[in-house]
Amino acid sequence: MARPTRFEEHRWLGDKRSMRVHDLDNVTDACLLDDLLASEQFMSFGPDTLAEARNRGYRPCPHCVAPDAG
Ligand SMILES: [Zn+2]
Repeated sequence: MARPTRFEEHRWLGDKRSMRVHDLDNVTDACLLDDLLASEQFMSFGPDTLAEARNRGYRPCPHCVAPDAG
């Protein structure tokens, strides 16, 4: 799946609806990223790290985030 060009500066993208964070380097069809982008209920993180996403209460997406990531 192509990485969304509007997020080429970011790796981690949070879904505010499910409180999941996706790894844009590994995103799969199962992530339903098109649906997330259409909903506009997403956010990026500063710093752009999985640790920061976790600090904000996001859980790793089971489809694209490796179990040992971050
Ligand atoms: Zn995902």
